[in-house]
Amino acid sequence: MPEDKNKNIKNLNITGRFAPSPSGRMHLGNLFCYLIAWLSIRQQGGRVILRMEDLDIVRCPARYSVGVLDDLNWLGLDWDEGPYYQSQRGEFYQAKLDELEKLNLLYPCFCTRADLKIASAPHMSDGKIIYAGTCRNLTPEKINLLKKTRKPSWRLKTPDEIFDFIDGHMGYYAENLNQDCGDFILKRSDGLFAYQLAVVLDDADMGVTEVTRGADLLSSTPRQLYLYQIFHLTPPKFYHIPLLLAPDGRRLSKRDRDMGLDILRGRYQAREILGKLAYLAGIHPDASPVSLEDLTAKFNWNLVPRENIIVPDYLF
Ligand code: GLU
Repeated sequence: MPEDKNKNIKNLNITGRFAPSPSGRMHLGNLFCYLIAWLSIRQQGGRVILRMEDLDIVRCPARYSVGVLDDLNWLGLDWDEGPYYQSQRGEFYQAKLDELEKLNLLYPCFCTRADLKIASAPHMSDGKIIYAGTCRNLTPEKINLLKKTRKPSWRLKTPDEIFDFIDGHMGYYAENLNQDCGDFILKRSDGLFAYQLAVVLDDADMGVTEVTRGADLLSSTPRQLYLYQIFHLTPPKFYHIPLLLAPDGRRLSKRDRDMGLDILRGRYQAREILGKLAYLAGIHPDASPVSLEDLTAKFNWNLVPRENIIVPDYLF
């Protein structure tokens, strides 16, 4: 962390965030996203928040958060506030869920995985199961009966309505929430709060005005916009960025061991990794080493590609 924590902030109206899910070491895809998020915010003189999305504490043990902090520090991607930990904010999420229940927008769902498959078979979109609404209208008596044998998950009723927005990078995006997505889970039967709920409540609570994240989350945004609307919160501006792919077209993941920061830090200096990432992001003419300062001066959203990016073998 910088010694003078507020030295970077000139514009308190602009707030961005890093929101890692610390389920392993960081990989290039995460860093690519944080680099762009950081450059966009720092260029505007805004503040950066760090929030660990460690709701699933089994998959996200504390030692991985330590690794994330270390990797960000090593690269010089600093932040002004946090780290916050979603695993410590359960009471806040539960209070908001209770509000949804009072509004009659939330209902317990007792369907098993097998039930979901059978009931939803004709309603698939992009391989995603659209919930058929089986438990939407259970009577209170039936609910009480079922609760005796099974812990329910909790679903949000979705309206038959289009939610659309203009993404700062990808342009117009729209989804009919009920038809394209269906009633979605806000709390799982094992008690874990869902990403969709926590991300909205936290971004709003932490004053986030600009969200930069991978294009795989573009289709989550209409769900999140609905939650912003229900809670009377102002949504941030969204920027979805292309994903980094391995040369065979697969998405880079934490399983790609040699793309993990633990390995890369043994091979390269921070400036070298920044140069390579900035080159992939279109904001640096070649893959030569570069400083964050230089990149902040040069950053321009128009240079960033919109198609997913293959990371060539020779680069790392
Ligand atoms: N925690 C999510 C991830 O690491 C990011 C969520 C978001 O940016 O909204 O993929």
